[in-house]
Amino acid sequence: METYDALLASIAPAAGTGRTIFDPATGEAVGEAPVHGLDYLESAVAAAVAAQPAWAALGHDARSAALLQAADAVERSAEELAQLLSREQGKPLNGPNARFEVGACVAWLRATAGLPLEPETIVDDGDTRAEMHYRPIGVVGAIGPWNWPMMIAVWQLAPALRMGNAVVVKPSGNTPLSVLALVKVLNEELPEGILEVVSCGREVGARLTDHPAIGKIMFTGSTAGGRAIIKSSADTVKRLTLELGGNDAGIVLPDADPKAIAEDLFWGAFLNTGQTCAALKRLYVHNDIYDAVCEELVAVARQMPMGNGLDEDNVLGPLQNKAQFDVVATLVQAAKDSGARILLGGNPDTSQPGFFYPTTLVADIDNNNPLVVEEQFGPALPVIRYSSVDEAVEKANGLDVGLGASVWSPNLEAARGVAARIQAGTVWINRHGAVDPRIPFGGAKQSGYGVEFGVEGLKALGIPQVING
Ligand code: NAD
Repeated sequence: METYDALLASIAPAAGTGRTIFDPATGEAVGEAPVHGLDYLESAVAAAVAAQPAWAALGHDARSAALLQAADAVERSAEELAQLLSREQGKPLNGPNARFEVGACVAWLRATAGLPLEPETIVDDGDTRAEMHYRPIGVVGAIGPWNWPMMIAVWQLAPALRMGNAVVVKPSGNTPLSVLALVKVLNEELPEGILEVVSCGREVGARLTDHPAIGKIMFTGSTAGGRAIIKSSADTVKRLTLELGGNDAGIVLPDADPKAIAEDLFWGAFLNTGQTCAALKRLYVHNDIYDAVCEELVAVARQMPMGNGLDEDNVLGPLQNKAQFDVVATLVQAAKDSGARILLGGNPDTSQPGFFYPTTLVADIDNNNPLVVEEQFGPALPVIRYSSVDEAVEKANGLDVGLGASVWSPNLEAARGVAARIQAGTVWINRHGAVDPRIPFGGAKQSGYGVEFGVEGLKALGIPQVING
C-alpha cells in the first residue's frame, strides 16, 4: 500500500510531456496522464507478445493464483484507488460508486480466478472421442469507456489473463489515470509484460484494432465505436466481444407496489448518476399505478444528495465530461419543448463549477421523444404511460438496441412471461442492472455481441480446439 500522492506520482509522465486531467466536479487538476504515441503502443504490444507464452505455459492454477494475489493488491490500495476514481470520474466515494467500483474489481478478479473450466468430452462412443479445449488467443486488446473505467477494465483483462493471454489496455481519454493506477497496482503481483497499458487518444488506440499481433479486441463503448472496430478489425479477422450502448426499458406491471419498488427503480436508473450502460433509461408504467409510481420515485429521488464525490454524504455526482452534460441538457430540453411534465429537476445551475445536472424525472412524455429514443447516459429518466402489456412490450422492443431490460411485478410467473418477450441480453425481474461475475452478460441487437462473465465469458477469451481421436 502506498499513499494517494505516491500512487499518482508513480503513473505520472516526465514533466511537461503529459496532459492534465480535470475533476468534473470542481474543474481542478487531478493529475497528469501520459500521452502515448504509436511507438509506445508498438513497444507495449511487443512486450505482451514476448511475455505471453511463458504466462500461458503456467497453466490455469498458477494464473488463478496470480489473479488472487492481484486482487489482494487492489484491496490493499482500495482507498487510494477510490479517491483517484472519485476525483477523475466524478462518482462519489460512497453509495454504489467509487469504493463500490474498486470492491467490484476485487470481487471480479477473485471470481474469475475461481471459475471452473475443464475440457469437455463432446463425443465418446467407442469409435470417436472428441474433446473440446480452450487455448489462449495470444494478445488481447482491451478498450474501455469512462463511466466505470476500473471495473470494466477488470471485466476485460481478468478473463483474458486467466485464459493465458497477455493484455494491452487502452483506457478512455477521459479517465486514463484510474486505469493507469489500477494496472500499476495489478502489476505489483503479475509477471512483467503480460499486462500493458497505453494512455492514448482513439486514433493511436485504433491501431490495436488492426494490429496483426492482436488476436482479439474486448471493446466496451458506444455503438458507433463498435461499428468502427468491426470494420478496422476485418482485415486481420480478429475475434471481438462488443459491449455497446443500450437504452434499457423497464416495464412496471399493474400489480406492482409503487412504494415497495421505488428505491430499486431509482437505483436502476440513477446508478453512477445514470452513466451506466445497463441502466434503466425508459420506464413504462401501467396507467393504473402511473401517478403513484411517479410520486414515489420523486420522493426517493429527493432524498439522494448530489455533489462533490469526496463529500462522504453524496451518492450522486456530476456528469463526467462536458459533452455528456450537453447530451443530457439537450435531451431534457427536447422533452420540455414537447410539453412533457417535469416532475423533478430539469434546470441545471450553470453558474456553479462542475458538470452537475440535477436528478430529473419526466412524466407524460411521448414514446418518440428524443429523451426516450436516444441514450441519455445521465440523470434524467422519462416515465411513459401504457395501458396494455402488449403495448409496453412493443414499445420496449421498438429500438435497435437491447442490452438490458426489467419487469416489475410481485407475480414472478407473469413477470417471467413478459421478460421472455423482450429483446435484450438480460431481463431482470424486480431489479435492474444487477451484474454478477458468475452470470453471462451481453447485448442483443446493436448493443453488441459476445458475452462477458461466467464460464461462457472465459471461453470467449480462448480459442476452441477440438482434439478428435
Ligand atoms: P466511446 O465509444 O466513445 O469510447 C469507448 C472507448 O473506445 C474509448 O476508450 C475510446 O477512446 C475508444 N474508441 C472509440 N472509437 C474507437 C476506435 N474506432 N478504435 C479504437 N478505440 C476507439 O464510448 P464512451 O463515450 O467512452 O462510453 C459511453 C458508451 O459506452 C455508452 O454508449 C454506453 O452505453 C457504452 N457502454 C456500454 C457498456 C456495456 O457493457 N455494454 C458498458 C459501459 C458503457
